[in-house]
Amino acid sequence: MSDNQLGIKKLGFGYMRLPIKNGRFDSETVNAMVDRFLELGYSYFDTAFIYEGSEDALRESLVERHPRESFSITTKLATFAISDPSKQREQLEVSLKRLGTDYIDYYFIHGLGGESIKLADKLDSWGYLRSMKELGLTRHIGFSFHGTPAELDDILTKHPEMELVQLQINYLDWENPEVRSRELYEVARKHNKQISVMEPTKGGLLAGQDSTAGDILKAFNPNVSVASWAFRFIWSLEGVMVALSGMENLEQINDNANTFDNFTPLTPEERAKLEEVAERIRSTPRIPCTSCRYCTTHCPQKIQIPIYIGIYNNMLVFRDTNSTGYSYSQNSFPGASTPADCIKCRACEEHCPQHIEISDIMEKFTSKLEEVRARFRAA
Ligand code: SF4
Ligand code: SF4
Repeated sequence: MSDNQLGIKKLGFGYMRLPIKNGRFDSETVNAMVDRFLELGYSYFDTAFIYEGSEDALRESLVERHPRESFSITTKLATFAISDPSKQREQLEVSLKRLGTDYIDYYFIHGLGGESIKLADKLDSWGYLRSMKELGLTRHIGFSFHGTPAELDDILTKHPEMELVQLQINYLDWENPEVRSRELYEVARKHNKQISVMEPTKGGLLAGQDSTAGDILKAFNPNVSVASWAFRFIWSLEGVMVALSGMENLEQINDNANTFDNFTPLTPEERAKLEEVAERIRSTPRIPCTSCRYCTTHCPQKIQIPIYIGIYNNMLVFRDTNSTGYSYSQNSFPGASTPADCIKCRACEEHCPQHIEISDIMEKFTSKLEEVRARFRAA
C-alpha cells in the first residue's frame, strides 16, 4: 500500500491509552512498543496537552531515545484551558518542554465543535496557528473536530490554510446521527483536506473478540483479527492520511501493522458484513440517554452521569471490552466522582426528560464493573 501525500505510513500511534504499571506509564513496555513501531517503518505519534502525562511519556520513550527526524509528533492546543490569546503561546512552550523538542510536526486546535469554535474565534487561534507555522514552531496546522458537518464546512471555508482535520470515523459511527462520520468525511474531502482518523476502533470497542462485532466477524473469517476489519474500513477511504490507534501492547502493533502491510480494500461482501455488525450493535437495547445534561447540575456528588450511562450502554453492547472505555474516562478525569459515589438521592431523576432511573443505573454500573474487574483479576 502506498504512502500518502505527506509521506507517512497510515498507522499512527495514539498516546492516550498507554499501559500503566504502579500508577505510571509502564516505560519498559512503552519503550518496546515504540521501538517496534519505528522498526516496522511507522513514524506518526499523536498526543495532546490535556492527555495527562502523555507528552512527558512521549519525550521519555521516543524523543530522548530516537533521532528527531525519524518520527513526527502531533500535539494539540487546549483552547478550553485558556482565557486570553497570549496564553496560547505559553501553552505551546509547556508542550515543547514536555516533549523535549523545539518544533511540532502537526499542531492542532483540540476538539472543535459548538461553543469551542466560538472560543477559537475569540482567541484567534487560527491566526495563532498560522504564526506558529511561520515561525517554524510547527510544520503543519489543523484541528480535531467533534461538531456538525455544517460547522466543519464553515470552518474550512473561512480557514482554507488549515491543512489537516482529525475526525472520528469508524464503521459503526459512519451513519450514526450523533457523530455523522460519513458526512464529516465528505465535507473534509470536498475541501481537499488530509484526514487523520481518531477512534477507528471506537476506543477498542470494535476490536474485541468478546463482543457483538467479534462474534459475527470471527464467524465470517476466523483467520483475521476483529480490529483488522475496522482498519481496513478506514484505509479503504480516499484521503485518509493516518488512522490513530491507542495501542496497549506489542501484539496490537504487530497486528495493525500486518493489516496495513497486507492491505486489501473491503469487498462488497465484507462491507455488507460490517453493515450487519453495525445494525446488530445499533439494535441492541440501551438506556435512552440523549446527553442533554439536565441531570448533572443537580447531582450533589457531581457525577458525570451521561458519560457513565454512555459507558454502561457500551457494556450492554460490547460486554467486557468496555473496560477500555471506563479506564479511559478515569484517565481523562482523574479524581472525578464515579457511579460508586451515588447516594441515591434521586435529585437527577426529577430533571431527566427521558425518565431514566439514574440511581438504579449507577448501582448496576458499579456492580457490573466489579464483575468485569473480578473476571480480569481471575484471568
Ligand atoms: S441519585 Fe446519584 S446520580 Fe442522581 S443526583 Fe443523587 S447522587 Fe447524583
Ligand atoms: S437528564 Fe437524562 S437524558 Fe439528559 S443527560 Fe441526564 S440521564 Fe441523560
